[in-house]
Amino acid sequence: MNKIRALALFSGGLDSLLAMKLLIEQGIEVIGLYFDTGFGGKAEEEKQAYLKRVADKIGAKLEIVDIKDQFIQEILFDPKYGYGKNFNPCIDCHANMIRAAKALLPKYNAKFIISGEVVGQRPMSQRFDALKKVASLSTADGLILRPLSAKLLPPTIPEQKGWVDREKLLAIQGRSREVQMRLAKEWGIEEYESPSGGCLLTDQYFSQKLKEHIKYDDFTSEDADLLKWGRHFRLPEGAKLVVSRNQEENERLKALKLGKYERFSLPLPGPISVLSKNVSGADKELAARIALTYSKAKPEQIYEVQIGQESILTAPLASKEEARRFMV
Ligand code: SF4
Repeated sequence: MNKIRALALFSGGLDSLLAMKLLIEQGIEVIGLYFDTGFGGKAEEEKQAYLKRVADKIGAKLEIVDIKDQFIQEILFDPKYGYGKNFNPCIDCHANMIRAAKALLPKYNAKFIISGEVVGQRPMSQRFDALKKVASLSTADGLILRPLSAKLLPPTIPEQKGWVDREKLLAIQGRSREVQMRLAKEWGIEEYESPSGGCLLTDQYFSQKLKEHIKYDDFTSEDADLLKWGRHFRLPEGAKLVVSRNQEENERLKALKLGKYERFSLPLPGPISVLSKNVSGADKELAARIALTYSKAKPEQIYEVQIGQESILTAPLASKEEARRFMV
């Protein structure tokens, strides 16, 4: 007999792992969907390797679903239920994932959706009324099973139809992590991320940079990638400059696919930098000077810095302190 199959919203956090494992224990085949908004953490390849490892550990399959552009265009800047503490539109984001998962049910021949939400656990996305808002926004009510809190919620279609045994689901509520910790131990789940799954939109500094960015420019997934790395500067005539901080960031900035920006390096050991295209001559020269300031350039010595087609003869600023005036 074919197994019942379910799609899970899989953030990488412990709750989503436990929700999936609870159903796997009931003989349900679970596919963990990781919705990649572009904000899930700094290094995507490390995140994906982690997701694969932990999904394997509990016996789930993993699918990565790229929703970067859709998330930026439709959710990030106009969430119906606003933001959490930082730039995180959690209620709308969650509802968006549920809608996307619902649309994928036929593709995977799956019958319902699992979410690791816990009633009353997190201040914004998991309050009881927030769960209802998510359900009404996502138009998948009845098909979303929240195994960790299911016994506190009305029976869902998978429970009513007998695909899932409600008695084996849980009634966790509140912020205590006691039951989750016990289950993690029991099932040997030792590796897991924080509840936000490392989402950068919950990070104060990242959110500040994002807010600053949208005062000057529209925002694309290229900007989301760029915001993750380097020191960010806003130059007097509006250009954005990013200067790497170390060898790893050099490699990251080299690997970025750039459209609105161009990369430049220096004629001596130093950082890779990224600058907005089509900037004023004054901003271009200042960009070269700031980048030189973070290199091994000697004060007051003139260097030739190539930015795009232009060759700029200039010296570093007097100090990093001076450069920091332009830092975002
Ligand atoms: S923490 Fe980030 S990924 Fe998770 S629901 Fe909130 S905005 Fe979405």
